[in-house]
Amino acid sequence: MKTTNHNQIHKKLIFYLEGQLAELERQQIEEHLSGCGRCAAYLNELKSTLLLLDENKMNEPGPYFYAGVKNRIQARRLKTAIFRRVLQPALLVLLLAMGVRFGVWVGNHTRIDLQSSEQAVLVPFDDLAEEPIEEFLLNLK
Ligand SMILES: [Zn+2]
Repeated sequence: MKTTNHNQIHKKLIFYLEGQLAELERQQIEEHLSGCGRCAAYLNELKSTLLLLDENKMNEPGPYFYAGVKNRIQARRLKTAIFRRVLQPALLVLLLAMGVRFGVWVGNHTRIDLQSSEQAVLVPFDDLAEEPIEEFLLNLK
């Protein structure tokens, strides 16, 4: 067998292991492997490396871990969004309603207060109107 063939086989071995080769290429590699200890050893090395990589993939925080974190972040964002879009306006509406109620209450009470204080204010005003302003200023001294 030619030496260049070994290198070609080596390059294809990873695809061979992952089953990504065409039937003809796969057969050629299997044929070569059965008669070449060097390439067979390389294949075993590659296999164990791939297995290690797979194990690492398993131990690594995988896509599910990230999906979980992402979900948690999204859930938090959703909560904030719900708060912003639903609860905040609801609170505003509530505050507004309370404000309106308070306003009406205050309005009702001040109106009553005004009615009583209006008379109290009007009385001295009437006195001032009767009294010329100059005289009033002179009396102050
Ligand atoms: Zn070989």
